[in-house]
Amino acid sequence: MRKNIVAGNWKMNKNLQEGIELAKELQAALNGKTVKCDVVICTPFIHLASVNAVIDGKTVRLGAENCADKVSGAYTGEVSAAMLASTGAQYVILGHSERRAYYGETNAILKEKVKLALENNLIPIFCIGEVLEEREAGKQNEVVKTQIEESLFDLSTEDFGKIVLAYEPVWAIGTGKTATPAQAQEIHAYIRSILAAKYGQAVANDTSILYGGSANAGNAKELFSNPDVDGGLIGGAALKVETFLPIVEAF
Ligand code: PEP
Repeated sequence: MRKNIVAGNWKMNKNLQEGIELAKELQAALNGKTVKCDVVICTPFIHLASVNAVIDGKTVRLGAENCADKVSGAYTGEVSAAMLASTGAQYVILGHSERRAYYGETNAILKEKVKLALENNLIPIFCIGEVLEEREAGKQNEVVKTQIEESLFDLSTEDFGKIVLAYEPVWAIGTGKTATPAQAQEIHAYIRSILAAKYGQAVANDTSILYGGSANAGNAKELFSNPDVDGGLIGGAALKVETFLPIVEAF
């Protein structure tokens, strides 16, 4: 079933105590409220278990920001999908443009990460999106199609049905520039059409496709009102309850 989701990506922000405080405040703000989307907070690895202890896992759900492309063993500094699952995390962001750009994550590496996340019952929030030069050259459709094909299209229909996609134009992330609602709708509809061609219209209709890139309280309502935009992956505005909550409430 297609869901509306608003997911926060804390990135490398907040020490442990600050993270626990933010999670507590968000949980308290949402207690007793009816919202029309699932709310997820994706935190640094070290926060996961402690944050999980202060949220209910329903009103506020937990996600990680990355996982290893290996099962276990001598991979110093890495954190496996199984480890994430053991903290109570339900989601994991994979393929964020910062991971692709700064840590050399290729479509092939991401394919392994997706597989391991699914094997450990984590829901991947799989990020795709073009850089500015690609958008200016009109290549955005081609770029997202290749990212999806090379990392996801070996999945069975059943497994693909568990994936959440996040379209994040790289030129809009952390820049204050947002895709216009029309630009977002156009490419989200295109992405859904690729999914339909591969897995059938029913699977495509059931896939949540989030928008990410400088989404905030001021633009969320208009972005989310598009038929193919099923929520947001939120960076900067997820770091305070007063900026995140209005986005959750934009549905
Ligand atoms: C992100 O990093 O996923 C993101 C969308 O960041 P921001 O909202 O800060 O642009």
